[in-house]
Amino acid sequence: MDHINNLFQQAQNYIPGGVNSPVRAFKSVGGDPIFFTHGKGPYLYDVNDRPYVDYVCSWGPLIVGHAHPEVIDSVQRAAEQGLGFGAPTPIEVTMAETLCRLVPSMDLVRMVSSGTEATMSAIRLARGFTKRDKILKFEGCYHGHGDSLLVKAGSGALTLGVPTSGGIPAVIAEQTIVLPYNDLETVQKAFRQFGNDIAAVIVEPVAGNMNCILPSLGFLAGLRKVCDDYDSVLIFDEVMTGFRVALGGAQSLYNITPDLTTLGKIVGGGLPVAAFGGKKEIMEMIAPLGPVYQAGTLSGNPVAMAAGLATLKLIQAPDFYKNLTNQTQKLVQGLLTRAEAAGIHMTANQVGGMFGLFFTDQKEVTNYHQATHCNSDRFKSFFHEMLKEGIYFAPSAFEASFVSSAHGDKEIEATHLIAEKVFSRI
Ligand SMILES: *Cc1c(COP(=O)(O)O)cnc(C)c1O
Repeated sequence: MDHINNLFQQAQNYIPGGVNSPVRAFKSVGGDPIFFTHGKGPYLYDVNDRPYVDYVCSWGPLIVGHAHPEVIDSVQRAAEQGLGFGAPTPIEVTMAETLCRLVPSMDLVRMVSSGTEATMSAIRLARGFTKRDKILKFEGCYHGHGDSLLVKAGSGALTLGVPTSGGIPAVIAEQTIVLPYNDLETVQKAFRQFGNDIAAVIVEPVAGNMNCILPSLGFLAGLRKVCDDYDSVLIFDEVMTGFRVALGGAQSLYNITPDLTTLGKIVGGGLPVAAFGGKKEIMEMIAPLGPVYQAGTLSGNPVAMAAGLATLKLIQAPDFYKNLTNQTQKLVQGLLTRAEAAGIHMTANQVGGMFGLFFTDQKEVTNYHQATHCNSDRFKSFFHEMLKEGIYFAPSAFEASFVSSAHGDKEIEATHLIAEKVFSRI
């Protein structure tokens, strides 16, 4: 234990807050983060070699589990050829072909290195294409840390956005309209007022950054229609949902065709890869074809492409998503049953291999307001008690959880048994 505490102290001497991404610091649950050294299948191992069943899966990318032999083998073989050339390579063509086949709304796709880069670039592109400045996003949706996107609603329902982070000029935040998720009426109202200035609507088609929230019936179709009516670009941010809720992403599951799609996480199989793509006429606006600039030294890196492609190959196995969904449902149902038996008010949302638990007596959680009015003390106790017993959930009530194809009945049953004990004492 001492050794772990030392590491966190040492980390804080050199890294702001001791972490390279803020949620890792355990601020919202209290206590110190765990330092992990390796992972295998559904398990993560800490510096004392203690295993944990992992429902974070590197925040989504590891849909085939940690250190899958085929992924590791691909990466090793690619690395032996050299780590990158900053010039065209065959493997990035295979990647682009694969993505355009799996996500048919993308005629053309460009690779980048993070989800943030993908959404920032998609927004610049939408602005360049429409020659408009405003964008519309939804409360509780996270699209990476681009300036235009770290914005919350102003005081009135339809007032212009204000920054949620220091360092963002008000003139940029003002160009972002922020509305409640799943509320089509306010979107239509905003379009009646600002429609001809709105370059794009960006949405997580299943929200995974305010816990896990599903789109209401008609919400995504309504966004499609209003974007058509006003010639605005509809961007589905599928950085999380792409290859997570279905092979073709949320757009295939809900049968809505966006103009642009952003991908990340699973597309890199654990290495830093993301992408944005969509309609040919829009994508052709990007340099070197068009006037919208976008570039990256490491974009399409061959080692990263190898990890992504190996993962994309595995998820195309027959029944992959049927099995993943079944396992996730089994896990969630078992947790709900045990919570109820213990008299704990809990509800859950689940789609494909992603899910979220809510400690609340609300029947359904469909937006940010509801997600932020759950019992956060109970979540903290649940998180820490599960962790003590070797089950690792995300250290925040506002993150979705993930199941991988490596999570078998053994791990799910173990999680149920431990949860039963934990529910009886929180
Ligand atoms: C994770 C995530 C991002 C940001 O991706 P990074 O690789 O962390 O920059 C953007 N959008 C969504 C929906 C995400 O889940």
